[in-house]
Amino acid sequence: MYQVIVKNARIPQGDETVLTNILIKDERIAGFVDGIDGIEAEEIIDAEGHLTLPGCIDSHTHFMDPGFTHRENFLTGTSSAAAGGLTTIVDMPCCSVPSVRSIPELENKLEKIKDKAIIDYGFWGGVTGEDVREGWLHNVKEQADYGVIGFKVYMTPSVPTYPRVTDPEMYEAFRTVAETGLPIGIHAENFAMCDYFVKKFQKEGRMEGPAWAEARMELAEKVAIQLGISFAEDTGARLHIVHMSTGIGAKLVKEAKLKGLDVTSETCPHYLTLNYEEAMSEYGAFAKIAPPLRTKRDNKELWEGLRDGSVDFIATDHAPYHIEDEKAKKGMNIWTAFPGIPGVETMVPIIVSEGYNKGRISLSKMVEILSTNAAIHYGLYPKKGSLNIGADADLTIIDLDKEWAIDQEKTYSMAKYNPLHGLKLKGKVAKTVVRGKVVFDEKEGITVKEGYGQFVKRTEYTKIR
Ligand SMILES: [Zn+2]
Repeated sequence: MYQVIVKNARIPQGDETVLTNILIKDERIAGFVDGIDGIEAEEIIDAEGHLTLPGCIDSHTHFMDPGFTHRENFLTGTSSAAAGGLTTIVDMPCCSVPSVRSIPELENKLEKIKDKAIIDYGFWGGVTGEDVREGWLHNVKEQADYGVIGFKVYMTPSVPTYPRVTDPEMYEAFRTVAETGLPIGIHAENFAMCDYFVKKFQKEGRMEGPAWAEARMELAEKVAIQLGISFAEDTGARLHIVHMSTGIGAKLVKEAKLKGLDVTSETCPHYLTLNYEEAMSEYGAFAKIAPPLRTKRDNKELWEGLRDGSVDFIATDHAPYHIEDEKAKKGMNIWTAFPGIPGVETMVPIIVSEGYNKGRISLSKMVEILSTNAAIHYGLYPKKGSLNIGADADLTIIDLDKEWAIDQEKTYSMAKYNPLHGLKLKGKVAKTVVRGKVVFDEKEGITVKEGYGQFVKRTEYTKIR
């Protein structure tokens, strides 16, 4: 007797697909069969012949819980993620109060969010300039032992509770994290460059949306990545460039990989689809993010980076803010509005529509960048990110032909704004299955109680290639 049969599932086999029935027992994949006559199961899920991927993963979210729950909380964030076809997210350590940089803070966060999660989740560990200055770096190994998947550092300030690192402090962080064997993810923007040009533009009275992107220029990301690569080469740390926004970044990562360095990167759907001139002119603060949106050339070069492997996977940097107080408050301008946009509900559909359906990426590449590569990189594979027998029965079932448009009002996220509002897509999530249970169904919405999602720890480290 099986727990579940997912019938009529079209699963990827390289760049081809095969129609099969997936048997699930004890929340895990137990086998594949051509016919289900005579096989008993407590429940049958009909995938209706739709493409059925290993559960998609977003390894970069800011769900703001605990502390900033007027922006998002773990229930709204993971509901939005479930509706977007994600089965696992990994939350960042910075956007919460307290921020997460020690075992007590990890335990506090887990306690606050565990009864809210709809899908499975892991945690990034934290290390800041303050940890270096105060002699708190012992927390790095302790967090690694707890099961975090990597460590995040900010070269530019983000939230007051999570101080940035100076260059020498980042070097100390690299040395310490290198000993754990875990990746160190850097927000790669040079502080002095950004700070100087933001102040200069403010003084000149530049108030138009695009000024934000022109002040935090491509060069600021380029030199930050170059410094990160130099530190990785010196310390042996596994460098990961989070939310990489530029084509030049992809080129630098490619060169580092060719040199044999352990350097990886992610980009986000908005850096593949939007350019700053159009989006920031139209949406202003609602398209304000850091690093900023770039150019059409960068969109093109980042797709190319995904194809050639210099960009390893996709993540969202989902970071919603409160419209009335933090994006569009009276008197607020492009410099004072908070930087961040939502993303978990649209990541998979955008990659399906603009990537696979438009022929920019192959099926096997889509599986890698939405699921497998992040799981491998962060030590969650093959429990997550695979359709192996024994893997968690996490599935993202996609109707490849369904046409629709992104509507910023229709979202489970608390953030009812989106610079991708109105984008027409072909391909929509039909069902999201986490450990054998449908958590989201296109017709019924969220179908599990809050608290169904489980904490996933890093198990072991394996390289993507
Ligand atoms: Zn982020």
